[in-house]
Amino acid sequence: MTAKTYSVVFLFSSFIFAAQEASTPVPVEPVPVENEPLHHVVLKNESVVVIHLTLPPGERTLYHTHTHDRVAIPLSSTSITQQVWNEKEGPPSRSEPRTFSALTLAGSSYTHRVHNVGANPYDVLDVEFLVRPQSPSPVTAATVAAENPSARIYNWNLAPGATSAMHTHVRPYLIVAVTGFTLKMTAPDGQSIKHEINRGDFHWVDAKVTHTLANAGSAEGQIVEVELK
Ligand SMILES: [Zn+2]
Ligand SMILES: [Zn+2]
Repeated sequence: MTAKTYSVVFLFSSFIFAAQEASTPVPVEPVPVENEPLHHVVLKNESVVVIHLTLPPGERTLYHTHTHDRVAIPLSSTSITQQVWNEKEGPPSRSEPRTFSALTLAGSSYTHRVHNVGANPYDVLDVEFLVRPQSPSPVTAATVAAENPSARIYNWNLAPGATSAMHTHVRPYLIVAVTGFTLKMTAPDGQSIKHEINRGDFHWVDAKVTHTLANAGSAEGQIVEVELK
C-alpha cells in the first residue's frame, strides 16, 4: 500500500466514526429544571419557583429533573410529546391556553424532556412548590378546579362585564392572567383597582386577601389563582 492509499482509508474510517456518533448520541446527564437553557426562572421565593419555558417548533428541551409538585399553565396552542428518562418518546398531546394541570411528584424526582411537535412555540408557565405541607389548610377560597398535595387552583372565566364571587385567600397565592383583559379587583369595603393585564402576567401575593375579580374590558378574561395548601 502506498502512503496515499493509507490516508484515503484513514479519512474514510474517520468519516464512518463521525456518522455513527451523530446517529447514536451519548445520553447527556439530566440537569435540574432551573438549569435547562430554555427554562427561565421568573420568580423565586421561599415557597415557589415560577419558570417560563418557550420551546420553538421542532425543538426538544434537554433532559431535566423536577423535584417538587408543580402546576403547568400553557399559554400557547401546539402539540408536544414527553419523553421520560430511559423510556420511549410518548404520543403527541395538545397544549392549549385556558387549560392547566396540577402535577403530583411521585417518588423523589421526575426526569423527562419535552419535544414541540406542533407548528407554534410551546409557551408555558411552570410553578414549582418548594414545600409540601404536612397538614394542608382546610380552608378553600372557592371551587377547586385542580389540586395536588401542595396547591389548589381556582379558575375564573370572566366574560366582559362579569364579576366573580367575593372570596378570601388565607394562604399565599400566585395570580396568573391566562388571557389579556382589563381586570378589576374589588375589596369588601368597595375599594377597587384596575389593571390592564396580558397573557402570562402573574403576581405573587403573600397576604390574606378578600376580593372579587371582574372583567372591566371587552375581551374574554380568564384568571388562574394558584394557592398554597
Ligand atoms: Zn419539565
Ligand atoms: Zn382570588
